[in-house]
Amino acid sequence: MSEAIREGGCGCGATKYRVTGEPIFVNNCHCRQCQQQTGSTSVVNAFYESERIEVLNGDLSEDQFVAGSGGPHVIVRCSACHTALWSHYPRLGRHGLGLRAGTLDDPGSITPDAVIWLQDKMPWVALPDGIPHFDQYYDFREVLPQDRQERLLALATKAKG
Ligand SMILES: [Zn+2]
Ligand SMILES: [Zn+2]
Repeated sequence: MSEAIREGGCGCGATKYRVTGEPIFVNNCHCRQCQQQTGSTSVVNAFYESERIEVLNGDLSEDQFVAGSGGPHVIVRCSACHTALWSHYPRLGRHGLGLRAGTLDDPGSITPDAVIWLQDKMPWVALPDGIPHFDQYYDFREVLPQDRQERLLALATKAKG
């Protein structure tokens, strides 16, 4: 069976990327940091091993923030228009990334596994049917199938290095 291939890019069109395979997990995060960094209700992050993403065109730039956990949160952007394309979070370091699903050419091809940080959710936002939701974060063992748990654990082990 061939792996899924998805492409996406920034707002100005200078940067295009390709990502291979299905994500390990996908979060729709309503935390205050995601609200501020996107100017929106929430963000949809699809997490992959970093080697699954390939830049086809354009140049990247980076900004570093302090993550909710206190570690470095690196946002990778198109260097021309500064659209945020993906992030490296402290837990997985540079080995993993959270792709901003809204930058995919077909963002509807990815469905969140969980809706998280409902304690910060804007009060008028309705929750989707059939997707587990949590006040803060969740235990991935309760949500992810075995094969994806194993991919996540392999990445977390690498990140601890
Ligand atoms: Zn751009
Ligand atoms: Zn968040």
